[in-house]
Amino acid sequence: MRLVIFGPQGAGKGTQGARLQEKYAVPAIATGDIFRWAIATEGGELGAKVKEYVQAGRLVPNELTIQVVLERICADDCKDGFLLDGFPRNRAQAEALDEFLEERGIPLDAAVVIDVPEDVSLSRILGRRACLRCGRNYSVDSPPSNPWTCDVCGGQVVSRADDLDESAVRQRLELYHQQTKPLTAYYQERGVLRQIDGTGGPDEVFDRIVAAL
Ligand code: ADP
Ligand code: ZN
Repeated sequence: MRLVIFGPQGAGKGTQGARLQEKYAVPAIATGDIFRWAIATEGGELGAKVKEYVQAGRLVPNELTIQVVLERICADDCKDGFLLDGFPRNRAQAEALDEFLEERGIPLDAAVVIDVPEDVSLSRILGRRACLRCGRNYSVDSPPSNPWTCDVCGGQVVSRADDLDESAVRQRLELYHQQTKPLTAYYQERGVLRQIDGTGGPDEVFDRIVAAL
């Protein structure tokens, strides 16, 4: 199964990505997690290149992002498929991915877009927390069992730095509407779009996605 999943910030991509990864036994690859991990690992070349963009809520340049993703999906664990969360984020990235997959004769099975209204999106961003080490998502409504220690890996669970900066949050939402949302039409034309209502609890949304796939 080869999937991409997109939607506004706070739509629940990360949460659903983790569940889909288990259900379909394909790795969930989140560009945001790759970049945050690179930044947290001091001394790395990728981290130094992407830091200023991520902190300001701007897009990392296409050339670099595309290179990172295409390299990642060439890894062994992606031979039976993958789930991309946060990529593509604009038309150039979508075209680069299509070209890569077409050359290999392995088309995308579906592009899942999760829709939520702006107020839901904003309140979820404010409430969400993530593990610094493994990226696992939590929120003030569903915290880890020990205060702010990851259930999976014992890492520290915190708000993301870019979620605390209100102007960076607004910038990311605006970029979503300008550049990523139009991918809905792009994937619709290619017959792979699956539009999902992202309101309600995580189980409800997950069931909708599985039914649509
Ligand atoms: P969110 O969806 O809440 O903005 P992500 O974790 O998906 O969070 O992304 C965090 C940051 O990483 C983005 O604001 C951007 O700087 C960078 N980023 C992630 N994916 C991409 C991408 N496909 N292209 C360019 N930049 C990206
Ligand atoms: Zn963790």
